[in-house]
Amino acid sequence: MKSQALIFLGAPGAGKGTQAREVSQHFSIPQISTGDILREAARNGTPLGLAAKVKMEAGELVPDEVVCGIVEERTDQPDCQRGFILDGFPRTISQAEFVDRMLLAKGKGSPLVIDIDVDHDVLLKRLTCRRTCSKCGEIYNICTNPPRVEGICDNDGGKLLQRADDTEETIRQRLVAYEEQTSPLIEYYRAKGFLHEVDGNRRPELIAAELIEFLGKA
Ligand code: AMP
Repeated sequence: MKSQALIFLGAPGAGKGTQAREVSQHFSIPQISTGDILREAARNGTPLGLAAKVKMEAGELVPDEVVCGIVEERTDQPDCQRGFILDGFPRTISQAEFVDRMLLAKGKGSPLVIDIDVDHDVLLKRLTCRRTCSKCGEIYNICTNPPRVEGICDNDGGKLLQRADDTEETIRQRLVAYEEQTSPLIEYYRAKGFLHEVDGNRRPELIAAELIEFLGKA
């Protein structure tokens, strides 16, 4: 992989987290999920976390300065030297411009942007069926890919939890935020020639295999 910065773009429920996890393990580069970092900050009750929690539970975006600061700090860590995956960031044009400046300053070159494209009704089904392991973060779809024992992770016996923002009203709001603020990034990156689109309506293992093959040659 030539590009040192991978960006996973896609609507909520498109499978960014699931695919970024596979790619991270395969190429041994860290997955940086701004959503995961914000949820952890909210659990720890830090002032930043508590302010972010209000936004997240309303299905709205957290302010650009907050998430840009998080990404800047995280990508300065030594494990990011060989490259990293941004999962769920950038989500606004202003965040994308920040990434451009940051990569230039760090001498990382252009990002490679993977857009996972999924139909609206599939997104809704995935979000309502999503459960996450409280220990290892493995993501399940209890409708199409349930664990062997209900409510329990196959990997480590961790309890499976539903995200606080995977409720009907918040999902609706998150999809609006995606359409209005994030979807313009597709054109932004297409115009720069950085975009690679994948059909995310298929089974996760098929998408992962295709992505890993593509990235291995990219
Ligand atoms: P995710 O786990 O990526 O679905 O993100 C969950 C929530 O965290 C989003 O609905 C936002 O409230 C917040 N969030 C995550 N990433 C960003 C970002 N790049 N910009 C603004 N808010 C974000």
